[in-house]
Amino acid sequence: MVPNYRGRSWTEISLETIKNNYRIYKENLPEGTDIMAVVKADAYGHGDQKVAKIMQELGCRHFAVSNIHEALRLCEAHIQGKILILGYTPPYYMNAVYVNDITQAIPSEEYAQELLKNGNPIRCHFAIDTGMNRIGLNADDPEHCERIIRKYADKLNVTGLFTHLCVADSKSEDNIKFTQRQIEKFRAVADSVSDLGLKEVHCLNSAGGLWHKGRSDCVRLGIVLYGLKPDYGNTLPEGIQPALNWKSVVAMIKDVLPGEDIGYGRTFHVDHRMRVATIPTGYADGYSRLISNKGFVLINGRKAPVVGRVCMDQFMVDITDIQDVTMGSEVVLIGKSGNEVITADDMAQWIGTIGYEVVCGISSRVERTYID
Ligand SMILES: *Cc1c(COP(=O)(O)O)cnc(C)c1O
Repeated sequence: MVPNYRGRSWTEISLETIKNNYRIYKENLPEGTDIMAVVKADAYGHGDQKVAKIMQELGCRHFAVSNIHEALRLCEAHIQGKILILGYTPPYYMNAVYVNDITQAIPSEEYAQELLKNGNPIRCHFAIDTGMNRIGLNADDPEHCERIIRKYADKLNVTGLFTHLCVADSKSEDNIKFTQRQIEKFRAVADSVSDLGLKEVHCLNSAGGLWHKGRSDCVRLGIVLYGLKPDYGNTLPEGIQPALNWKSVVAMIKDVLPGEDIGYGRTFHVDHRMRVATIPTGYADGYSRLISNKGFVLINGRKAPVVGRVCMDQFMVDITDIQDVTMGSEVVLIGKSGNEVITADDMAQWIGTIGYEVVCGISSRVERTYID
C-alpha cells in the first residue's frame, strides 16, 4: 500500500503563518475581545486538529465547527476549551453532544423543543437572525426572541447568543448600514436578556471584526486566520498572509502542432507549434473544471496557461515560453514562484467564486504537508 500522494499533488501549510495571522488579527481587536477559531471543514482545508492545537497553544479557548463529527475530531485531539457546533446536529446525536460537553447552536424554537426530549441540559447558544434569513430566531420580533430564550434558559444550559453578518465584507454605503442594523438588532435582543448573564454573546465574523467594531464577547475568526480575504476587493491588515500552497509536478512534456486540439471536447485549438506539459492534478483533487482554458500555474517563476479542459486527475498547460522544464519539475497551483504569485483568492476570481470554496474544495487525496 502506498502511504501517501506526496510528489503528485500536495499542499504545504505553514502553521507559523496561521499563528502570525492570529496575532495580527488579535492586535486589531479591542481589549478583552476573545477569538473563537473557526476550524470547520477541516480548518478550511488546513487541518482542523493541527490548527486547533496551535490556536490552543496561543491561548485560544473557543472553537467553532459545522457538525458533530468535526466537533468529535477536536475532542479526540484533546483540545481544551469550548467547541460550538454552528450547524444542524440531528437530535439522534444529542447524547454525544452532552457527554463531550459540546455546545450546540439552536436555529429555531422547534429545534430547542427537540433538544428538551434528550432530558439532559444541553449546552447551547441561540442563533438570532438579524437579516440573513439562514438560521435563528427572528430579531425583527425582539419580544418573541426574549420570550423563547427565557423559556429555555432554565431547561437547557443556554450559555450564549449569536448572529451572523452577511455583508460585513462590503464597503458599499447601503451594506455598511445594513451591517450596523444587524448589530443593533442583535444588541437589542442581547440586552433584553442581559440579566441571564450569558457569557458568550457574539456577532462578528472575520470581516465584522476588522471593519465593524460592534460589541461582541468574541469574534468568530475563519477566513482571515488562513490569510485569505472575505471579499476579493478587501485589503487585509499588514502582515496577514495565505498559509497554504498547493503544488504538483510535470508528468510529461510534448510538442503539439498547428491543427491539433488539446483535451476532452477538443476545446483548445493549436495554431502554432507549442510545448505542453501534463500536470497530474484534476477536479477530483479539487482543481476546478471551471479553470479549463482559464488561469495558469507557475513553473520556474513563469506563468503557464491552462490549455483545454481540466480532467478528473490531470490537466495540460502551455510551457512554450518557459525554459528548463522537465518531467518532475515543480508546479505551483497556489503559492509563489520567483516573482509571481497565485492566491486561492486569485484562483477563485478566475472562476467566479470565493477563496473559501477553493481551499475547502482541495480534496482529501491531496496530501497535507506542514512546512514549519
Ligand atoms: C463560517 C462561519 C464563520 C466564519 O466566517 P469567516 O468569514 O470565515 O470569518 C463565522 N460564523 C459563522 C456562523 C459561520 O458559519
